[in-house]
Amino acid sequence: MKDSGARLKPIALLLCAALTVLAACRKARNAPAVSPEREVRVVATIFPVYDIMRETGGIRASVSLLVPPGAEAHSFEPRPSDAVKSASVQVFAYAGDSMEPWARKFAAGLDSSGLLIADLSRGVRLRAPASGAGSDPHIWLDFANAAAMAENAARALSAVDPPNKDYYYSNLAVIKRRLAKLDAEYKTGLASCRSRAVIYAGHFSFGYLAARYGLEYHALGDAGPDAEPSAGRVAGLARAARAAGAKTVFAEEMSSPKFAQAVASEIGAQVETLNPMHEITRSDFDSGEDYYSIMEDNLRALSKGLGCAKP
Ligand SMILES: [Zn+2]
Repeated sequence: MKDSGARLKPIALLLCAALTVLAACRKARNAPAVSPEREVRVVATIFPVYDIMRETGGIRASVSLLVPPGAEAHSFEPRPSDAVKSASVQVFAYAGDSMEPWARKFAAGLDSSGLLIADLSRGVRLRAPASGAGSDPHIWLDFANAAAMAENAARALSAVDPPNKDYYYSNLAVIKRRLAKLDAEYKTGLASCRSRAVIYAGHFSFGYLAARYGLEYHALGDAGPDAEPSAGRVAGLARAARAAGAKTVFAEEMSSPKFAQAVASEIGAQVETLNPMHEITRSDFDSGEDYYSIMEDNLRALSKGLGCAKP
């Protein structure tokens, strides 16, 4: 008994060490631990902002996500506990007044001296959504805009941590290269498709992406918070799908697929899912999904759904 216990102990220790390393590896991508090397504390509102700040800040920044995984981004309202969690951060980063009309006031009220409020949409030209009024806030779904957001991130981090400016700008250069590569993949991947009509049974979120690659975009909802669509709008989407000869209806990640399924069954189409990224599931967050992996998944779904020729 004693012998077998002594033999088992090193194995258990090894297993534990391996599991600890695994957990740390998984954690490292989305939940940076506070360590002495992480000097700049950042709070970011939604996932694309979080991911851009995390990649630009690298080992110098500790970034936390304010709108939690599983929450609806457009109807999010910060609670007093969010202000407590965000106290003493040096950078508050958000996607713009159009996406988060509450953000600037919230940040201004934070108990943090010398706080820098970084609007990552600075310099990005907002598009009007095809349906609905106002401007389309989903700017990160255009790779040129995402690059501009990363520039704003590098500028903000350099302003609060000037000695490491070169480090942030070298991270920015890597981000720009990765975004350019994704852009090239989208261009070739969507160059030759059986259909160019994206029939989307979700809210109007892929307008920037559709415009960039010359796709027709029909969404069930407007660019703001999800509301139950009227029967008329569902019928309208089915009409657009039929007119375009669509073979696929796209559902929205984290929304009920019931409308996509209803339209698809009416016109005899299949369903694929697209992820506009401002809302992220807990499991995607914990498993380390990032901007690039989500956009790669979106390209695969578009390419399959639109019947695009493999480059
Ligand atoms: Zn949205």
